[in-house]
Amino acid sequence: MTTFSEKSLSAGIKKKAGELGFNICGIAKSRPLEEYGSRLNSWIEAGMNDIMGYLARDMDKRLDPESMLPGAKSMIVTGLSYYSEKMQKDPEAPVLSRYTYGLDYHEVIRLKLEKLLDWIKSVRPEAEGKPFVDSSLILEKAWAREAGLGWQGRHSVVINKDIGSFFFIGILILDISLDYNAPLSKDYCGECRLCIEACPTGAINDNRTIDARKCIANITIERRGPIPEALVPFLGRRIYGCDRCQEVCPWNKKINSVKTPEFTLDEEIAAMSLNDWKNLSQEKFNRLFGKSAMSRIKYEKLMSNIEAATRQGN
Ligand code: SF4
Ligand code: SF4
Repeated sequence: MTTFSEKSLSAGIKKKAGELGFNICGIAKSRPLEEYGSRLNSWIEAGMNDIMGYLARDMDKRLDPESMLPGAKSMIVTGLSYYSEKMQKDPEAPVLSRYTYGLDYHEVIRLKLEKLLDWIKSVRPEAEGKPFVDSSLILEKAWAREAGLGWQGRHSVVINKDIGSFFFIGILILDISLDYNAPLSKDYCGECRLCIEACPTGAINDNRTIDARKCIANITIERRGPIPEALVPFLGRRIYGCDRCQEVCPWNKKINSVKTPEFTLDEEIAAMSLNDWKNLSQEKFNRLFGKSAMSRIKYEKLMSNIEAATRQGN
């Protein structure tokens, strides 16, 4: 068996991550992220987490990877692009966020991280690791920055200079030491405020946080029950998520070459008309979206979103 130094193992992990399809990969030293706690607490105390009360629980644990994996030493942070040039065809149809296209990213990324862990164990059998995808237990955006992958834009999403911001973050915590990337300390937003100006509901705060009570991505997915009436006129036909603040970002204007086959929009969904959406049956919903990230919401919630977003005048 080849013996790897920390440096060569780190390089090998990044190479393997690329072979598995990840577009970017960085490695951060595990530590408690105490400096992120106060900002997060202020955001929660202001009620901006909306109904996501779980974000307030076990804050100390969420800041410290040791609580997720005893002996945690390294955070492998990956990015997988979901940007797609293929869009829905009917301009009158209700609009889906790009991240719903194709297969459920939780499963796609978990599988890739597990394969990455298998490879690491094949060269360092004593290594223990734990994968995380879109988990409230871990501060993904902060770790992406710690691993040098990007900075948090004014819209609060992490931006990478090469692949923009339309990417999912997947994290593998390891209990072995590696060669670490330097955290990205620079902010490349400069004087730009395009996302703040473009947000239909004014949900973007000046301190790079989002008021989830106003954010279309939250109210169409996380919030149970109907969309608040005051926000209905701002939906702009969006029925699941919202890409507006990312679409206007200059860092997303040069990413056409990035493609992940698993996140290709299904032909049948791409072709659905306004009427197809209005008449969507439970059976068709299960068939078309059973394996996508959209299976996270119930059929009734989606139909309620469709009704609100396609009301006359929207
Ligand atoms: S996702 Fe949409 S509603 Fe939410 S902050 Fe971005 S532009 Fe605003
Ligand atoms: S639109 Fe401008 S301010 Fe907003 S995240 Fe992109 S670069 Fe930063």
